[in-house]
Amino acid sequence: MLPGRLTPEQGAFVRAVDAFCTRECPAHRLRELTANGTIAHHPGLYEKLAATGWVGLGIPEEYGGCGGTLTDIALLVERLGYHRLPLDGHFATVITSQALIRYATEEQKRRVLPAVAAGAVLSIAITEPDVGSDAASLRTRARRNGADWLINGEKIYTSGATHARWVLLATRTDADVAKHRGLSLFLLPMDSVEVTPLDMLGQVDTTITRYLDVPATDTDIVGGLNQGWNVLVRGLNSERMIVGAKAVGLAQRAFDDTLGYVKTRHQFGQPIGRFQALQHGLAETATRLLAARLMVMHTAGLLDVGEPAPAEASMTKLFASELAQQASLQGMQFMGGMGYSMEHDMQAYVRDALVMTIFGGTSQIQKNIIAGQLGLGG
Ligand SMILES: Cc1cc2nc3c(=O)[nH]c(=O)nc-3n(C[C@H](O)[C@H](O)[C@H](O)COP(=O)(O)OP(=O)(O)OC[C@H]3O[C@@H](n4cnc5c(N)ncnc54)[C@H](O)[C@@H]3O)c2cc1C
Repeated sequence: MLPGRLTPEQGAFVRAVDAFCTRECPAHRLRELTANGTIAHHPGLYEKLAATGWVGLGIPEEYGGCGGTLTDIALLVERLGYHRLPLDGHFATVITSQALIRYATEEQKRRVLPAVAAGAVLSIAITEPDVGSDAASLRTRARRNGADWLINGEKIYTSGATHARWVLLATRTDADVAKHRGLSLFLLPMDSVEVTPLDMLGQVDTTITRYLDVPATDTDIVGGLNQGWNVLVRGLNSERMIVGAKAVGLAQRAFDDTLGYVKTRHQFGQPIGRFQALQHGLAETATRLLAARLMVMHTAGLLDVGEPAPAEASMTKLFASELAQQASLQGMQFMGGMGYSMEHDMQAYVRDALVMTIFGGTSQIQKNIIAGQLGLGG
């Protein structure tokens, strides 16, 4: 089932992405790749994706990209999520490049975006071992060193960093003002960053990154000195919509596999899909899938016309990420022992879905944001 109400161009684009995925990484190839453990990012596959030009989606043509909107990016991410291509670095890159497109200086854009469109990976490092949901309390410190800067600190769950060429690093540049006011983002090459991969449950490529006396200059600051919080907040709205798109792709995949299974598996002399309990469960999931997809498209459309859409972005992320979990857990239950078996991919869908209510802000934080937008903030 493809997203509804697509333009002919969008429909052709989605079909082309599907063809790419099934050609370059069909399900059996993905199984071979992951036979000895999870592969979250496959550089060779990423090169092939970059060669199609789609890595440059959303990046204006003058910076080497192919233009396009967040809606186009959502369509791409949904289909990559559906086919579960091991391209987690793409996810980190899309989210980071969106912040750069909006807030980087002309020189920064020219420095980085053409390489990104050609296949360089970007990371964004906000979360720290002691600072997660309360991101504005981050402690990684950038201090003046003459006219320049020296940066020290440690980040955790920096996705894509094992393959990244640059990181967008959130730092504290002023410790004497309210916590939201003293933050700045630095665009840094990965050469001077220590990277330690983390062992995680699902198909995610994430790391600890350490910064020890890393030099930087004013020309590396993205969005202005002490303006980092504004950039992050705006960027997180795009990120939440994009997580929503990925979650819809995964939920659809779990649903399609479940539907196929209940039509062919027989018990008590009939396909198990004839039992009303299973029918109602799948009818509810199909309904939620339609709603989640419409939410992604609606929020992407708002972001495309410059609306910040904080409530819509959080609602989309909340609903779609919880749907990915519900659809994959339902698949596991409706497939019985086969759903739990390593012989089928449903167990991988469950593992991948579990993180979706955590990264990009947990479900609890999304509810806090939505409540705040309803005028209920403390
Ligand atoms: C696979 C993966 C990839 C990630 N990628 C990146 C990345 O690329 N860059 C990056 O910077 N970060 C990344 N993150 C970090 C992610 O955004 C954080 O994990 C997330 O924001 C939660 O922070 P935390 O893990 O510290 O949990 P905590 O903030 O410690 O929260 C723990 C629990 O307390 C709850 N909680 C906390 N505060 C409140 C509150 N005010 N109200 C109600 N409940 C609350 C949370 O909802 C959660 O259930 C990634 C995480 C994962 C797992």
